[in-house]
Amino acid sequence: MPKPALMRRMPQIAHVDVNCFYASAERAFDPSLEGRPLVVLSNNDGCAVTRSPEAKALGIATGDPWFKLAPRAREWGLVAKSSNYELYGDISSRVMELLGRYSAWLEVYSIDEAFLGVKGGPGELLALGRRMKEAVRRNVGVPVCVGIAPTKTLAKLCNKWAKNNPVFGGVCLWELVPADVREALMARLPADEVWGIAGRLMKRLNALGIFTVLDLVRADPVAIRDKFSVVLMRTVLELRGTPCIPMEEERIGRDQLIFSRSFATPVTTAGGLREVLSIYGQQASARLSKHGLQAKVLTVFAATSPFRDHEQHHPSVCVSLPMPTADPLLLTKAAHALLPSIRDGLKYAKAGLMLTDLRPTANQPPLEIFENRHEERGIGPLLEEVSLRFGRGSIGLGHAGIRSGLDWTMKREMRSPRYTTHWDELPLVKAA
Ligand SMILES: [Mg+2]
Repeated sequence: MPKPALMRRMPQIAHVDVNCFYASAERAFDPSLEGRPLVVLSNNDGCAVTRSPEAKALGIATGDPWFKLAPRAREWGLVAKSSNYELYGDISSRVMELLGRYSAWLEVYSIDEAFLGVKGGPGELLALGRRMKEAVRRNVGVPVCVGIAPTKTLAKLCNKWAKNNPVFGGVCLWELVPADVREALMARLPADEVWGIAGRLMKRLNALGIFTVLDLVRADPVAIRDKFSVVLMRTVLELRGTPCIPMEEERIGRDQLIFSRSFATPVTTAGGLREVLSIYGQQASARLSKHGLQAKVLTVFAATSPFRDHEQHHPSVCVSLPMPTADPLLLTKAAHALLPSIRDGLKYAKAGLMLTDLRPTANQPPLEIFENRHEERGIGPLLEEVSLRFGRGSIGLGHAGIRSGLDWTMKREMRSPRYTTHWDELPLVKAA
């Protein structure tokens, strides 16, 4: 065991994750949903993608089609909401911006999850975790759990424990969990509950006698590498407390694409960041096209250099695109929405884009008038160059300003208002 003084100096990783994110975002603006079974539906009101704990308790599974649930909804008191990605993207921005105040080292991992680099003794870290949890609840209105550990994999595991065991009060610090309790908790959890272990590996793991997380921790990392991969070996090492998973910068998930990069040298002006975001817009567009996807909502964020002697700033903005698109120009233009928040003179070290409300390209044939005729014709870089030389607004796209043009093509009969991003949908407060 390292001496306590040494341990204090070891950096730790906090994993912050919103509980049942989409359902919690809905509840933040509609308290009548609190305590009721609630599902959020996929595009076109197809099937349940998020379930509140009450809906889970009814036996509703992710992917259950709404037409099968609807006949019993009244009897169950079940509420369904159409997906409202604009609301979720904006809530996500607010959570991330708030978390950025607690650590200079912030990795936005998904729409509702972030890793933060944190330092301190166990008491300080526990207090920090509780402060973050309370601040997100109070200032944004959604519940989060926090796991803090020496590695990302353990931080994710601690977060899971925090969610599933009320005794932790929503914040679980690895260092403070006694060894026998850790083992008992690990022995209870199937191995594929560990971050990065796909369910399809389970059969092969079972054949080696590995069923639970505890079995995995006790497995020989080298044998794991030889039988599986170096990736799985890293997971085992991380579970044993050796950090080996670096920051990820690009990821495509079930319902989002994240694209972020650290800069070789800090960017200190809005103009500089404008160029960076233009490049990212085009690169994100290429990723979407590669996967045959289009996005409807874009979240843009930036972060200052993680050195503590610099002023910290983590601006983030959510933009609803006028139509589902993978178009580099539209994505670039949308990404520029972050620029007014950039403070000249600060040292920005990282920026990123998160695309949500993804859908297959083929399913969304645009009306002819909305087609992006300039797509794939190299007009993006040209426009960028012209506007860099002659100023913003000197050249632009005719239809880029159309507001929510194609929203009606998507069936969203039960969508809540976009409380935070549309003036005409603001929540009303009635004074008695
Ligand atoms: Mg979550």
